[in-house]
Amino acid sequence: MNFIDSSVEIIDDINSDLILKKIELALRNCYKSENLIEDGSAEKLIKSCINRGHESPLEHVSITYRVICDRGVSHEWVRHRLASYSQESSRYCNYTKGKFGSEITYIKPEWFDEYQSLILKPSCDTTQEEYDKISIYFAYKKALETAELSYFTMIRNGATPDIARAVLPNSLKTDLVCTMNIRELRNFFKLRCTKYAHPAIRKLAIELLQKLKEKGLGILFEDIIYD
Ligand SMILES: Cc1cc2nc3c(=O)[nH]c(=O)nc-3n(C[C@H](O)[C@H](O)[C@H](O)COP(=O)(O)OP(=O)(O)OC[C@H]3O[C@@H](n4cnc5c(N)ncnc54)[C@H](O)[C@@H]3O)c2cc1C
Repeated sequence: MNFIDSSVEIIDDINSDLILKKIELALRNCYKSENLIEDGSAEKLIKSCINRGHESPLEHVSITYRVICDRGVSHEWVRHRLASYSQESSRYCNYTKGKFGSEITYIKPEWFDEYQSLILKPSCDTTQEEYDKISIYFAYKKALETAELSYFTMIRNGATPDIARAVLPNSLKTDLVCTMNIRELRNFFKLRCTKYAHPAIRKLAIELLQKLKEKGLGILFEDIIYD
């Protein structure tokens, strides 16, 4: 049994200048104002069109990225329908094989390190709340160990991965390649960066948003606010 952190990375080479120019061209086609294209004109126009809700030109640009997350998060992620997905298959991947480290990989929940560290605290300093957290940690780990043991026992006795996967929990690591256009990314961020989203998907959504901003695409997401 192995634990890793969730992560997100942009697969495409992003040229923010070309992307903004492409969106500007689509926008200006609506007004036949291509003659006004000049240095810095894209940002101004895109910002004003987003403010007015004129977002369809944003659909001309798509971004491909990879997410490593648990199965609970991936289930939420793929509910966003206007996107393309390719996901690691628990039907065809046999986690007893060497290329998977001959073990099940799980994604650490956001509370994992904190709760685990409490085990090392001297018991005289441990509060009731902390004891509860330690109990949660052990119950969680035991469930995952049992799932791994059952999976391996089933495969050893001839079950195929698509039968044995039935015992694997939401914490199972999965790998998702996603393509979303900018309009859909905006909708995704609006829903998944807020405090109402599950903390595990929220962390990844904010990470992806920040990475897109670092690549020079901040103007496309300026109005998306998160804590
Ligand atoms: C905090 C939170 C809690 C949630 N809880 C639950 C839950 O308990 N149970 C549950 O089942 N889901 C739940 N969801 C999922 C949610 O209902 C959406 O399925 C998911 O967020 C995808 O959003 P979307 O439809 O806007 O995205 P997309 O599917 O990508 O659609 C993008 C946009 O296209 C339009 N669109 C797409 N399809 C249609 C359509 N058929 N008809 C009309 N317009 C369409 C809409 O404007 C939509 O916003 C939750 C989501 C959030 C953020």
